[in-house]
Amino acid sequence: MLSRAKTYTTSGCFALPSFVAVINEYDVVIVGAGPAGSACALALRHSGLRVALVDKAQFPRDKICGDAIPSPTLKHLARLDPGYATELSALLTSRRAPTTHSRLLAPNGEELRIAWHNPAFNIPRLHFDEALLTLVRRHTATDVLEDYALRSLQTDEHGVTLAPSDSTKPPLRAALVIGCDGANSIVARSLAPRASLDRAYHCAVVRAYYTGVTDAPEDTSDFYFLREYQAGYCWVFPVGGGVYNVGFGVLSEEVVARRLNLKHELSELLTTHPHLAPRFAEAKALTSITGFGLPLGGSTRPAHGPRIMLCGDAAGLIDPLQGHGIDKAVHSGILAATQAMACFQTQRFDAEYLANYARQIEQRIGQELAQRYRLMRFLAGKTWLVNMVVGAARWPWLRRRLLRAVG
Ligand SMILES: Cc1cc2nc3c(=O)[nH]c(=O)nc-3n(C[C@H](O)[C@H](O)[C@H](O)COP(=O)(O)OP(=O)(O)OC[C@H]3O[C@@H](n4cnc5c(N)ncnc54)[C@H](O)[C@@H]3O)c2cc1C
Repeated sequence: MLSRAKTYTTSGCFALPSFVAVINEYDVVIVGAGPAGSACALALRHSGLRVALVDKAQFPRDKICGDAIPSPTLKHLARLDPGYATELSALLTSRRAPTTHSRLLAPNGEELRIAWHNPAFNIPRLHFDEALLTLVRRHTATDVLEDYALRSLQTDEHGVTLAPSDSTKPPLRAALVIGCDGANSIVARSLAPRASLDRAYHCAVVRAYYTGVTDAPEDTSDFYFLREYQAGYCWVFPVGGGVYNVGFGVLSEEVVARRLNLKHELSELLTTHPHLAPRFAEAKALTSITGFGLPLGGSTRPAHGPRIMLCGDAAGLIDPLQGHGIDKAVHSGILAATQAMACFQTQRFDAEYLANYARQIEQRIGQELAQRYRLMRFLAGKTWLVNMVVGAARWPWLRRRLLRAVG
């Protein structure tokens, strides 16, 4: 595709290094080419707008994740165009692990196996995000700029100037910026520069890949709820080819209060936990254990500002109960695209107009996440209750309710 960006030389209104002579101008710049950013670019395909999708990484790139793709992800893409879900599935067929079951292990060792009604699958994000970006390249006229790390952005009356970390690259100018740049979003920080991390709405998580795990069916994702930790769980998810994504997450409040080192905790669990240790006795780590943060949904983080919308993790849209966020990232990216088109139709980019987007997010995603946050807090530390729920789910009608609760 040919770039449709307008290029012009700098004038007095931009303070740029003297060797940077040009600015690329777009209608919309989407920062971050993860699920939120790629879905947003796909949803803008017929808009006629000049769109850039920028990412600091070169794709394919890894993203620390559990690699479980929640079933609503494909539904949102299919609503956009049924062909997208089909094409994405075709791109991923040989690499994904279709998961038909989950196994929940209660703190008392009791086990519950659940069959899912909706098709879901696990796949390393290395492949999933690359495939989504392939759809963007195939079906849209978006300028995809990889290796472009945003350092800062400045909003004025007429637009937003985006400055890259690498000062030899040209700055970008846009009428509207959509921040899809993840949990440590620079775009979100531009809206609330002094906001400190709210540990009540944040999870610390670690993950590594293993092979040689035993008693681990390739169609089953395992969740271990542990007596020793208030809110959080350990997971063992098959991701295809005999490889397992293994991780552990705990609410950041607890991590700080108990000074937990999660990398150490996970290693200990895999060698000493009565159910995990036998399964990992012969296992080989394929990667080191790495950590990342999860901004949980249900908080009052802003989702918009003048000429700016935030999507996915940048808006803190992760399910507090399960830690899933890919489906919400895709959904919010699509909602932002709809709002972006309305902005250009009306030529309104002010915060008051963009509050429509924040309301959509609240109604369609935020309210549900807030409910799930309350449920997560209610269950936190109540080992007996988790044991009881897993035990009681032997009865079909309770199992149906549990299935609805965990999604
Ligand atoms: C350990 C762990 C396990 C998880 N497990 C699951 C799971 O199993 N299932 C699930 O649904 N969710 C899971 N999540 C949550 C999920 O990873 C996120 O919700 C999802 O990736 C959000 O998508 P996004 O597009 O908003 O952000 P991201 O996927 O984080 O994408 C953001 C993009 O922005 C780019 N970027 C960042 N900063 C800049 C910058 N300054 N300039 C330019 N580009 C930038 C990044 O390179 C990246 O490509 C997990 C998260 C973690 C940490």
